[in-house]
Amino acid sequence: MITREEIIENLKTVHDRIEAACKKSGRNPGEIRLLLATKTVSACNIRVALSAGESLIGENKVQELKQKSDDLKDIDHETHFIGHLQTNKIKDVLRYATCIQSVDRIELAEKLDHRLAFEGRSMDVLLQFNTSHEESKFGMDPTNAIAFATQVAAFKHLRILGLMTIGLFSAETEKVRKCFRVLKEIQQQITGLELPDVKMDILSMGMSGDLETAIEEGSTMVRVGTAIFGKRKYPDSYYWNEQQKVV
Ligand SMILES: *Cc1c(COP(=O)(O)O)cnc(C)c1O
Repeated sequence: MITREEIIENLKTVHDRIEAACKKSGRNPGEIRLLLATKTVSACNIRVALSAGESLIGENKVQELKQKSDDLKDIDHETHFIGHLQTNKIKDVLRYATCIQSVDRIELAEKLDHRLAFEGRSMDVLLQFNTSHEESKFGMDPTNAIAFATQVAAFKHLRILGLMTIGLFSAETEKVRKCFRVLKEIQQQITGLELPDVKMDILSMGMSGDLETAIEEGSTMVRVGTAIFGKRKYPDSYYWNEQQKVV
């Protein structure tokens, strides 16, 4: 089990990595927000990170989102939903998350909008794209970017703030970089549409293994789990692909 001291040390290392990557690409570290990817991480360990000054976490599963939101309700923080969202779980996610980063299909956007209209409010969202073409990951096909953004933008209760992607899992940096470049290109395409009330400020890309590359390619939010909280006991396919459920 990871100790409190290790979590704090790891956080420092991650912030140093972000800073070094910014330096290398002439960016200001203040432009990059760190989201703690907290799937499988206990509320107790998340609390350690929040007490150390972090403010943003991301959950993949609705059950964990609910449980931990309850456990952490006395400590100030923000939670984004970053996992594949089934439409029958929308109500809970809207209750506990302040942004849904994984809007990856029209059906989901439509049902979110419908529920939000019923509740009389709106929600921040990011559009998730599949830039790696791996079967095991969700996300809209980049070739549909313009149509997808235009359609989602028409839903009055969704505030589009930017884009999210999961880069290719590869030790070959240049292949990973390509994924991030694709997301950056989509950002420029959508910005060019000048859709009303659509912002493209957030580029959520980069994880434990590739955050430097993502920052070099324009990331404004990195989502980091393993490098802070240690290895998870479930393979990520459990979170990313319903068809490959491993329990
Ligand atoms: C788990 C997860 C991360 C973080 O992955 P690490 O490699 O542990 O840093 C980032 N984004 C999403 C969507 C995730 O599910």
